[in-house]
Amino acid sequence: MRVHVADHPLIAHKLTALRDKDTDSPTFRRLADELVTLLAYEATRDVRVEPVDIVTPVAPTRGIKLASPKPLVVPILRAGLGMLDGMVRLLPTAEVGFLGMVRNEETLEATTYANRLPDDLSGRQCYVLDPMLATGGTLAAAIRYLVDLGADDITAITLLAAPEGTAKLEEQIADLKVPVTIVTGAMDERLNEHGYIVPGLGDAGDRLYGVV
Ligand code: URA
Repeated sequence: MRVHVADHPLIAHKLTALRDKDTDSPTFRRLADELVTLLAYEATRDVRVEPVDIVTPVAPTRGIKLASPKPLVVPILRAGLGMLDGMVRLLPTAEVGFLGMVRNEETLEATTYANRLPDDLSGRQCYVLDPMLATGGTLAAAIRYLVDLGADDITAITLLAAPEGTAKLEEQIADLKVPVTIVTGAMDERLNEHGYIVPGLGDAGDRLYGVV
């Protein structure tokens, strides 16, 4: 598993505003959206492309276009939805599938409660969206689910990650034979006893959707 931690002052600046407990939901949503677009730029570095011949007003030339099958973007419900617009802005022709996962707050185990994905993901590159890589359980379950359907290359984009969750995720998917990349806005200090990222930003879903 490859982990890429963004190292960019604009991302750090926007993350700081996002973390602030006084940032309201509309601002939080806008910042999350902007951050995803910046992170998606790095996350799509290895997106599959194929050559295409075109003619400019001056001369014929060969360029590239996204290869088929098109990449699949998979926001994890609920909080990953807040990252969808920012992602498809950069990849407008990508297909979108949805995966609903819920974390049991006592055991911290993740289970799937909804799935709107193509039945066959053979040969598909998948971009999973989940703002918080905390214990790693949700992402591990989601990645395994996609690989079971045939996905052969997975990149997860998160706004924040915790070192313990990242290590746990790596351990939990070690048997998978597909390349997995994590692109995150920052690697925070640790998890607290409730499985929250410290310093983190609190509950990403609540902050996105204004639940108090
Ligand atoms: N989920 C969140 O929304 N926040 C955390 O800090 C951890 C998991």
